[in-house]
Amino acid sequence: MPRLVPGSAVTSDPLSAAPSGPPLIETPHPAAAGTTLAEVAAAASTCTLCKLASGRTQVVFGVGSASAALMFVGEGPGEQEDLRGEPFVGRAGQLLTQLIEGIGLTRADVYIANVVKCRPPGNRDPQPDEIEACAPWLDRQLELIRPRVIVTLGNFATKLLLQTKEGITKLRGQEFAFARAGHEAVLIPTLHPSAVLRSGGRALAESRADFVHVKRALVGR
Ligand code: URA
Repeated sequence: MPRLVPGSAVTSDPLSAAPSGPPLIETPHPAAAGTTLAEVAAAASTCTLCKLASGRTQVVFGVGSASAALMFVGEGPGEQEDLRGEPFVGRAGQLLTQLIEGIGLTRADVYIANVVKCRPPGNRDPQPDEIEACAPWLDRQLELIRPRVIVTLGNFATKLLLQTKEGITKLRGQEFAFARAGHEAVLIPTLHPSAVLRSGGRALAESRADFVHVKRALVGR
């Protein structure tokens, strides 16, 4: 996704010159640089495209199989993830691992990433400018991994990937067609594991049901 940044290009047409400041030129997002997941991860590790860069310990790019048929997208790293450099390793991560294992898979079989790759301070919600700056990294992960089934965990990932304002409680457990840059997949939103931990019984039963649905979608494709 190209970004407009102040540049030094000089226009020869004085009538088309910007009224003030340097003209805007397009530069590619650094996510466009690599052709493998490892190259893109290396480029992301020094990203300073949003204000989250200043508070992070490290970029939490993603983990798992680079050719996974199933990919999970969460919200953003918390404290444990920021320290360890791996998504979903705290309490919510333990629940996610259990849910994955509950459908006969391991974390190594799937790929796990987040909407934002750096920890929001105090675990606050990611802000729109941060989500926008980070989205091309996730797009590139999806393009390179090409999962057949994408599971969005909670509101932020669901709203971003489905481009919807509808909330997760309404959308969870349903199948949506996901198509971008020539890649087609099935997208199934489910509750964020942190929300499940907060809400308990019924939410956990809903998550388990959604994961059974995910398994069916994987086997059926
Ligand atoms: N919550 C998320 O959304 N992502 C993580 O990596 C950890 C907790």
